[in-house]
Amino acid sequence: MSIQTVNPTTNKTVRSFEEMTDEALEAAVARATLAFNDWRKTSYEQRAALLHKVATLMREKKETLARIITLEMGKLISQAEAEIDLSANIIDYYSSNGAKFLADKTLKPEYGKAFIRYSPIGVLLGVEPWNFPFYQVARFAAPNIMIGNTVLVKHASIVPQCAILLEDLFKAAGAPAGVYTNLLISGKRASTLVSDKRIKGVSLTGSEAAGASVAAAAGRNLKKSVLELGGSDAFIVLEDADIDKAVEWAVVGRINNNGECCVAAKRIIAVEPVADEFLRKFKEKLAHLKVGDPMDRATELGPLSSEEAAVQLADQVKRSVEAGAKVLLGGKRVDRPGAFMEPTILTDLKPGIPAYHEELFGPVASFYRVKDEQAAIDLANDSDFGLGGSVFTRDIERGKRVADQIDTGMVFINHPTWTKEELPFGGTKRSGYGRELSELGIDEFVNKKLIRVSELTDPF
Ligand code: NAP
Repeated sequence: MSIQTVNPTTNKTVRSFEEMTDEALEAAVARATLAFNDWRKTSYEQRAALLHKVATLMREKKETLARIITLEMGKLISQAEAEIDLSANIIDYYSSNGAKFLADKTLKPEYGKAFIRYSPIGVLLGVEPWNFPFYQVARFAAPNIMIGNTVLVKHASIVPQCAILLEDLFKAAGAPAGVYTNLLISGKRASTLVSDKRIKGVSLTGSEAAGASVAAAAGRNLKKSVLELGGSDAFIVLEDADIDKAVEWAVVGRINNNGECCVAAKRIIAVEPVADEFLRKFKEKLAHLKVGDPMDRATELGPLSSEEAAVQLADQVKRSVEAGAKVLLGGKRVDRPGAFMEPTILTDLKPGIPAYHEELFGPVASFYRVKDEQAAIDLANDSDFGLGGSVFTRDIERGKRVADQIDTGMVFINHPTWTKEELPFGGTKRSGYGRELSELGIDEFVNKKLIRVSELTDPF
């Protein structure tokens, strides 16, 4: 299998890496297991200090790290820098709040005393995607290292330099060997590794297929898993919305990260009275995006992460058009080298058309016109995914009522689905299970141990 940096702006191979041998993998798992025995005995202060050092180094090296992100997966350089800031904030958040989140919780039993003690469970495997190469790892590694677990990270094969740099940051911050380990292995080997007795849990962010593979292995071996999978978020625009604001956010929501966000505004649903105005303004803005080199700060839309991703997206558009969808804007690859796709709007989508059901991972918006609020909710819920979603309305109480009826893990009112260290992130349905970030994100791979103290005078 190939582990390579291929610049998607040019499709030229920049560097190739050797996959880990079986012996090296065995040594890494053994080291992480050994490290756990010591790491679990360290204090929260020691773990917090390590994480804070990692965050500090990340900020210091922001420029270099951001350039590697952009080189490997094509994110706009300004967004790559923002990703480093966000990742450092996540790591600092768990450094500052972890001890508080993990403090003993006192219970009030009828007799005697009881409390819950939070204990680490061991070596964890994190399987991570390329679309936010630092942020995704921060979400997994920071809370778990704070708990006292040790982590093995199998990163996406197209971002090997990001993966190596992450491990370097932990080393430079003084992490004992085995606390954070990068595994240069294939997805298949990662799934096999789940069965290893020394691995106590697995978290995967990625596609449904990869999630199912890892979860099946975890299930067979009775291990805890967390899955953060794909999404097809609805972006609902009601008749009382601020249309100009909604258009601005729809563009950001769909185009951010070159359209390669799990929580991108993939399905824009506007109610009849405002649909024409919204669509006209949305199309106008998408049509004028400056497409080009993501290292150039004037660029507004860069390439997809790889040629393969661009070919797949163009094929989804083609199959959708053959099945009856209409292309209002774009629809083709950009006529230049690299993994570029035109900003695209599809309309006339119905059940049975690929774009109605599939996740479109790139700058292709699906536009739906519906009669009213109820029809918008019904359409939003007519998806196998259940990750995020948005509703735009000036009436916040109405927004909350609509949010309550959307079957996803997150709903944002007057904002595209977004992420911050203090907000839980995760989905329902085929978008996965479990949560990352916030206090909930430190609650997944931890033994919530009941300790009960009985008095001699307590009844049987
Ligand atoms: P992917 O192909 O599933 O890859 C994700 C990770 O899984 C990579 O490290 C990949 O390794 C590995 N992998 C692939 N097949 C595997 C298998 N059979 N067993 C174990 N691991 C396997 O997904 P992607 O295309 O890179 O990422 C995009 C997807 O991730 C989208 O669906 C997106 O919505 C989703 N995503 C979800 C969230 C969330 O929080 N819910 C966040 C970001 C992205 P290789 O690279 O070596 O194949």
